[in-house]
Amino acid sequence: MARGGQGGSAEIRRLPEAVAGKIAAGEVVERPAAALKEMVENSLDAGARRISVEIAGGGLELLAVHDDGAGIAADQLATAFERHATSKLSTAEELWSVASYGFRGEALPAIAAAAGSLIAESRAAGESTGARIEFASGSLVDSGPVGRAPGTSISARGLFDPLPARRAFLPSTRSERTALLRVCTDAALARPDAAIRVTIDGREAFVHDGGAEADAAALQEAFGAVFGRDAAGRAWPFAASAETEVGVLELDGIAGAPEDHRRARDGLRLFIDGRPVQDRALAWSMQEAYRDWLPPGRFPIVVARLRAPTGAVDVNVHPAKARVDLRGADLAASLLRRTLRETLAERRANAPMRLRRASSGLDYSEDALPAGRLSTPPESSWRGTGSSLPGPRASLPSGGRASPDEAEGDERVPGLRPLRMVGQLHRTFIIAEGAEGLILVDQHGAHERVLYERLLAGSSELGEAGAQQPLLEPITIEPGAEAAAAYEDAAGELERLGFAIRPFGPLGLRLSALPAAVEIADAERLVLDVLEKVAGATAPPQRFERAAATAACHGAVRRGHPLDAPAMTRILRDLERCDNPHSCPHGRPTMLEFSADDLLRQFRRK
Ligand code: ADP
Ligand code: MG
Repeated sequence: MARGGQGGSAEIRRLPEAVAGKIAAGEVVERPAAALKEMVENSLDAGARRISVEIAGGGLELLAVHDDGAGIAADQLATAFERHATSKLSTAEELWSVASYGFRGEALPAIAAAAGSLIAESRAAGESTGARIEFASGSLVDSGPVGRAPGTSISARGLFDPLPARRAFLPSTRSERTALLRVCTDAALARPDAAIRVTIDGREAFVHDGGAEADAAALQEAFGAVFGRDAAGRAWPFAASAETEVGVLELDGIAGAPEDHRRARDGLRLFIDGRPVQDRALAWSMQEAYRDWLPPGRFPIVVARLRAPTGAVDVNVHPAKARVDLRGADLAASLLRRTLRETLAERRANAPMRLRRASSGLDYSEDALPAGRLSTPPESSWRGTGSSLPGPRASLPSGGRASPDEAEGDERVPGLRPLRMVGQLHRTFIIAEGAEGLILVDQHGAHERVLYERLLAGSSELGEAGAQQPLLEPITIEPGAEAAAAYEDAAGELERLGFAIRPFGPLGLRLSALPAAVEIADAERLVLDVLEKVAGATAPPQRFERAAATAACHGAVRRGHPLDAPAMTRILRDLERCDNPHSCPHGRPTMLEFSADDLLRQFRRK
């Protein structure tokens, strides 16, 4: 890790006015979790190997951090509480290469001023005794020697008592507890070599033993402490790097298994040069990599650590250091997304998950489908011609029979072997035979997946319009103010997909072409639906994919629609050619497998 702490206690000096003035202004401790973050980061900067955190009353009653770090020399303890006093920085240029978490010298005085009472005790390595200093609402009330082990303890009580106006606007104790714990788990993931133990209202809330010097092993440990040992056992480490204009960008981390998905984004942890940062685009790229693996509305667990070349990161853009500016952020986002996708694909190939029934994936890896056991389908059901389904791509050479060997030679088939079409069930499912048993395919979800990938394939990478089919007559739509605003935001993405839409009158839109990949019965309904779906999306890639998913949904065969044999066969063939045949664009499974073995067992034949 870049952030190795200071090792020994250095001199604390006040920053010259000119440097202090360049530092991102803002309130450092606007809530207890922000104060705790500063305190824990100070301990890590001091090279602590063990950190212990005590929290009571959501951090308002008590917030205490004890460490075994380098300590503060007795004659410097008071200086540490002056504004802009720091041992970590002396010139403005150093802001571009700070290896410590802290650099502003603002946290200790701010916390002292916000606390009813603050007691700091410290003993610097090499000194025989420690020093103690006490503040009440920021005013010095006592100081003197104290006997203690090397290291530092900072205890704040009655946080925000001196600032009743601020106190009135604090989040609830409960949400503060979550934020306080998050600070500690972030610290464990960012610096897994250090041990951290946290008690909340006297009860142990989080423990990471740290210790292991091998960084990858320590990270695995920390991952287990934060997300559970089981999840750690299923997770996969990853590493990659990319050239940038200013040097090499390095990435490593741990990708949680898709089955360990979570309700909220709290499993997405991103660190840039060891700092926990909130970055929408990077978080989105992590989420995006898992898109086809997760049920709708669920989020993966990913710990990703980026190390940027020197000079590529501006740490000085946010008062609580929750954001940094990264040169080459786009590159980082695509590196992250690609690496995670590859990790997930590899994981599937090497360690096949056997998820059945209500699960999101099926195993069609080589071992799972030995070619020899695939029964030869009757000639008739393999004909791909005469389909009643729309779509430009012929799925089979006419009259041809897809043998497993042919399928193997086709690069677009990522391990999903031909399924034999058997029939339709409830006008909803296609019944098929796979090598291992019975497969039920959701006709709508499967067709959605096929159309979705076609839409992406036909769309343009950059600005220009994607493949279009012009309407005979342009349609005028009155979508209402909200949807019209959504159009303003998403116009570029819609065009890339193949929509041709122009503003028409004050609140009207004029539609003259649709994406070529889908056949749409009700173009107006589709556009309104697309606008509604993209309205809540903030990131352009999210808008793009939501629009594509909506168009695929509109173009796909419905439940309740009777399908003839060639149409069903065609869906199966097209599905086999998809990059992600196992789930629909919304993340629902497209097929369920009932193995012949299970069926035999249920018939008591085994
Ligand atoms: P910054 O971290 O930006 O330098 P702070 O106000 O957080 O500013 O801390 C001021 C100084 O006090 C630090 O530069 C450091 O020298 C010293 N310090 C604070 N906490 C600790 C600690 N836990 N161990 C050793 N030194 C500390
Ligand atoms: Mg600090």
